[in-house]
Amino acid sequence: MTNSALSERQDATGTLGSAAGAVQNGVSTHVVPELNLDVEAFVTFADAELRAAPPWQSGVCFNPGCGRAFTPTRTWQNYCCRACKQQSRRELAQVGHRLALAMLVWRTHKYAAAGTPEAALVRVARRYVTHVQSAWMQDRALRSANANGCGDVGQGHPDG
Ligand SMILES: [Zn+2]
Repeated sequence: MTNSALSERQDATGTLGSAAGAVQNGVSTHVVPELNLDVEAFVTFADAELRAAPPWQSGVCFNPGCGRAFTPTRTWQNYCCRACKQQSRRELAQVGHRLALAMLVWRTHKYAAAGTPEAALVRVARRYVTHVQSAWMQDRALRSANANGCGDVGQGHPDG
């Protein structure tokens, strides 16, 4: 992309302002646009349900590679420390990256007519989401078993 083309694109989108300096420095112009999802975080969206059936154990670190018991300083604190929280964020991001395309095509073709290739795509996307969910739970259980346990409800601690 030439600088003039980039300038036109910047004018059109208004989102690539920081890329101009990158071009001048010879760095790639691939800029990830900010998502504009007008949806609150799941913990906010499902606050009442999460309070009624929390997927974590209070006072047990939700990072399965840790699983340490700790005294929460806030009622919503699920990690024993900042490092565990950051590790969990990376884990969630990795899972989200795996699921994103399948979830998008699932929603795109949600109402596809039976027997169409799009309906088959939705079925395989749904199977894939379940497959990733199961693999993720198994991975968390394995990390939990190799650590001190974890705060996932239903997995328990290795010692019982
Ligand atoms: Zn921890």
